[in-house]
Amino acid sequence: MAEEKFTAIIVGAGPAGSTAAYLLAQEGLDVLLIERGETPGSKNMFGGRMYSYALNQVIPGFWEEAPLQRPVVKETVSFMSGKRSVSMTCQDQNWLQTPVHSFTLLRAEFDAWLANKAEEAGAMLACGIRVDDVLIESGRVTGVRAGEDEIHADVVIAADGANSLLTERAGLRKALLPGQVATGAKQLIELSADTISQRFQLEDKQGAAYLYVGSCSSGMQGGGFLYTNLDSISLGLVVNVADLQRNQYKINELLEDFKSQPQIAPLIAGGQVAEYSAHLVPEAGFNMRPELFGDGILVVGDAAGFVINLGYQVRGMDLAIASGAAAARTVMQARAGNDFSEQGLSQYPDFLKQNGVWDTMEAYRHTPLFLDTRRLYEAYPQVVTDLAADAFTVDGSPPEHLLGKMMRGVKSSSIKWSQLAGDAWKGGRSL
Ligand SMILES: Cc1cc2nc3c(=O)[nH]c(=O)nc-3n(C[C@H](O)[C@H](O)[C@H](O)COP(=O)(O)OP(=O)(O)OC[C@H]3O[C@@H](n4cnc5c(N)ncnc54)[C@H](O)[C@@H]3O)c2cc1C
Repeated sequence: MAEEKFTAIIVGAGPAGSTAAYLLAQEGLDVLLIERGETPGSKNMFGGRMYSYALNQVIPGFWEEAPLQRPVVKETVSFMSGKRSVSMTCQDQNWLQTPVHSFTLLRAEFDAWLANKAEEAGAMLACGIRVDDVLIESGRVTGVRAGEDEIHADVVIAADGANSLLTERAGLRKALLPGQVATGAKQLIELSADTISQRFQLEDKQGAAYLYVGSCSSGMQGGGFLYTNLDSISLGLVVNVADLQRNQYKINELLEDFKSQPQIAPLIAGGQVAEYSAHLVPEAGFNMRPELFGDGILVVGDAAGFVINLGYQVRGMDLAIASGAAAARTVMQARAGNDFSEQGLSQYPDFLKQNGVWDTMEAYRHTPLFLDTRRLYEAYPQVVTDLAADAFTVDGSPPEHLLGKMMRGVKSSSIKWSQLAGDAWKGGRSL
């Protein structure tokens, strides 16, 4: 392998890397896809749901063959405050129409399937190899080093995830700060398919997605998630790393606490924990993105920070796939002009604009700043849940209209009216 030169070396067989490898191999390019895990997906985890549109553009009708769990028809967002919670649920059977809107899935089987598609298309897949560095000659990335091996290519695609070593080594970004990343912890809890369908009021093999904000993260920036798989539940928390360090919390302890909450415990009762995993999530947003390309290198997926967390939507898989596709198109164009320099790869942002990644990241560029507002995780969930509990409680007290209850609720909280107005304005513009 040390002597061979490839057109493209792609580091990381997650959704971003495998998509790029698949598309480039389909065009007949010499592609090497390197993955440190023993199999693609073995080192990967996520919450649980992928929006379909991006992969449908790459592999139309992929749900006919991909290993998926349940198509999601039910969305719930809950504010939690101690024993109280307020939830909003949206159910839409139209999401089942083709193209099916979104699916829950398990990464070990999904990532292996997608990497296998790349291999079938002609890419060389090398698993169990950790890339240690990029090779740089005269300021240009010319390949990668893995242990003793030096492997050369016209272009390297950094698809190595949130804590991208390659992006750092190529000088495209500095080391991440704790405030710019969150840590996610998840348990896979086995339950029978029938129990899941009955408990979550789902027909047959349809799925549900639940997101939680409030006391589940103990007032820290973050939230909880629950996704229904065929015969298991993905349950977890994502919390900002700087917040965890400051408050000396351990994410696995928070997760145990989350599991025991009255809103969660009945949903997982009788289930067996089959797996525990943890992973970083880039949270800095578009304002803090690395350089997306350089001489001989492109950056895709989490390595580029392409993740959106709005509290009611979590997106990373679709953006990883779409950015992998944009990178593949960039490489094909660079190859046509035989120019893999920074200039030759400079169309990458245009391809990201064409397939919506750029506009999505741009539209939510202020979200990380807004989500840094501490009131979102304690004061607001408390006001909302108190207000709802008040509205539903009948105990013979003198009647009071909703407006009065709301005014009283905000007044008795730590939130100032000016803060409420400011947060409503900023939230409306950022989420
Ligand atoms: C807790 C949590 C919940 C999430 N929930 C959702 C969700 O519900 N929906 C959603 O769309 N997104 C979600 N995301 C985000 C989503 O998982 C990511 O955006 C997506 O996985 C990014 O894909 P990627 O290919 O860029 O990176 P990854 O999936 O991280 O893949 C990177 C690959 O590179 C490999 N690698 C890394 N370093 C090296 C190296 N040096 N040498 C060789 N190989 C290497 C890794 O082993 C891995 O296979 C969640 C993330 C987390 C952590």
